[in-house]
Amino acid sequence: MNCPYCNFGNTSVLESRDLPGELGLRRRRQCKKCGKRFTTHENVVHIDLKVIKKSGKVEQYDREKLLKGINKACYKRKVEQVDMENLVDEIETKLLNRKTIEIKSSDIGKMVLSRLYKLDDLAYMRFASVYMDFPNAAAFQKFVADSKKLTIKN
Ligand SMILES: [Zn+2]
Repeated sequence: MNCPYCNFGNTSVLESRDLPGELGLRRRRQCKKCGKRFTTHENVVHIDLKVIKKSGKVEQYDREKLLKGINKACYKRKVEQVDMENLVDEIETKLLNRKTIEIKSSDIGKMVLSRLYKLDDLAYMRFASVYMDFPNAAAFQKFVADSKKLTIKN
């Protein structure tokens, strides 16, 4: 979504609201370069992406499902809804730029984690405990200890 004023490609979502029926989303955005605000009416983007689950099952990528998982992890934490939406936006942009249309669910999980880490450490751990499917508490503890090594590379 480019800024209508200066055409800069990086904007952040200030507010997001579902429009009734199938009309999509109404969003207030702010340009990260010139700072001007504008409103967009966005259709819900359907990304043609296949997610490969750990079981080998293949599912269609589902933004709502991903957002719900992040919402759960952020329950009662001070993470704004728009920050979660921006996080998913950022991941979707990455996913759209990939050459393949298949991705492992664990890879998406890692992409979320590397970003969630910067937003809220407890939400990060909650998300990890669900997404990474640790065999025992010790494996989880090791993961938490190692998590400082996580970079934004994903
Ligand atoms: Zn601008």
